[in-house]
Amino acid sequence: MSQASQITAVNTPTNTAPIRTVDVVVVGGGIAGKACALGLAQLGLQTIEIAPDLDSPIPIPTGSEWGQRIYAFSPGTQKLLAHLQIWDALDHSRLQAVRDMRIFGDRGEKPDQLHLSAFEAGTPQLAWIGESHLIEHTLDQAARFQNKLERIADTVEKIETDEAGVTLYLKKHTPLRALLVVAADGANSPIRAHIGIDVSEESYTQSAVVANWICTKPHLETAYQWFLPGGDILAMLPLPNKQVSMVWSTSPENAAYLLGLPQTDWDQTFALIADGAILKQLGSLTLHSTPVAFPLRKIRAARFIGPEQNPKLALIGDAAHVMHPLAGQGLNLGLRDVATLLHILGKRESFRSPSDLVLLRRYERQRQGDTSALLWVTDRLKKLFSGSSNTERQLRNFGLGLVNRSHFIKRRLIERALGDIDFE
Ligand SMILES: Cc1cc2nc3c(=O)[nH]c(=O)nc-3n(C[C@H](O)[C@H](O)[C@H](O)COP(=O)(O)OP(=O)(O)OC[C@H]3O[C@@H](n4cnc5c(N)ncnc54)[C@H](O)[C@@H]3O)c2cc1C
Repeated sequence: MSQASQITAVNTPTNTAPIRTVDVVVVGGGIAGKACALGLAQLGLQTIEIAPDLDSPIPIPTGSEWGQRIYAFSPGTQKLLAHLQIWDALDHSRLQAVRDMRIFGDRGEKPDQLHLSAFEAGTPQLAWIGESHLIEHTLDQAARFQNKLERIADTVEKIETDEAGVTLYLKKHTPLRALLVVAADGANSPIRAHIGIDVSEESYTQSAVVANWICTKPHLETAYQWFLPGGDILAMLPLPNKQVSMVWSTSPENAAYLLGLPQTDWDQTFALIADGAILKQLGSLTLHSTPVAFPLRKIRAARFIGPEQNPKLALIGDAAHVMHPLAGQGLNLGLRDVATLLHILGKRESFRSPSDLVLLRRYERQRQGDTSALLWVTDRLKKLFSGSSNTERQLRNFGLGLVNRSHFIKRRLIERALGDIDFE
């Protein structure tokens, strides 16, 4: 039985035993959940975070071993982490600044290139590339010193909502009561399903194969992305020490094939795609991690808060939205949910409870536009580059070149990639 099907949402409390009450329970132990729980506690709200894996410490990334989950973090994410006092505590030798992004069309011709430059945009960097574990480990450290935050390694089995709050029944621990529940329990969000929030979901019939490589040529602090004929998308993100992290979105069959490829065959594979441009750009590549694959889909929750008459719940991160990784923005968007929720709760009037309807509606309104725009753009780009007719090919490649010549559009694209957030 899935975790999702173990949770039941009902509207009347059935348990009369004394139950401990806190301000907020955050369900989920990914980066969005951890960052949100820490931020809520820093606001002075008594917070409990619940996830099954919270008692397995995230190892400190050290030495020449690099994690399999590598992310592009936007400057907006950097700002949120700085606000949470996490950014300065990170090991910066394991973060790589991205100063340029070069995106190539599938004709392999020079004019079909989009170049975004931090220098031209007047910003120190366009993004940072680093390990998921680096952020998670540092969030875990900070949580240990936050006396308003308690973590429980458990699974929520049942939820009851009433006028005053939410009761959460856990698999191993005694029940809890909270004024507000934040669901950060990922793409399959059991909480979302059992509260009855609809989702629109679409599979991309693609998987992303991720792996780290050591390259012989300098990557020049540049993130490269190739749209390949047939709809594959291959990104090489720069990492410290002449390494790059690959995200290759491809058919599930090709992904399965790539996962079993020995080093010698990889050389040949890279030589055959994008007219050998990958090897020309980065030199020869030596595999530096075991490749893994992730199925790709688009998900959007119909509501980002609980039922209209009595919400008591906010969705954040992948529980609210999942997108294609071609723009490297899924987590960044989820952390903008966190920043917005923290901002709204931090500024609330003293007479309002954290689950006040006005606040939750404000949260939902503020997150819908940003989410819709980013989901739409990534989805359109993905589909535009999957079309195989000659006209589509010419159009999209011409489009890349055209955008490259428009300073105005480039500026807007960079603004989106920077993903600024506002705490004022
Ligand atoms: C190949 C690939 C590359 C990507 N690259 C980027 C990138 O470069 N930049 C970027 O911004 N984004 C990127 N993303 C997106 C990013 O991975 C996700 O958006 C992000 O990991 C979501 O984080 P989250 O905390 O919302 O959810 P998750 O990390 O999925 O965490 C969910 C948590 O909920 C817990 N949970 C589940 N069920 C329950 C339950 N019943 N009770 C309690 N807890 C529960 C889980 O244990 C887990 O701790 C990429 C995605 C893919 C697939």
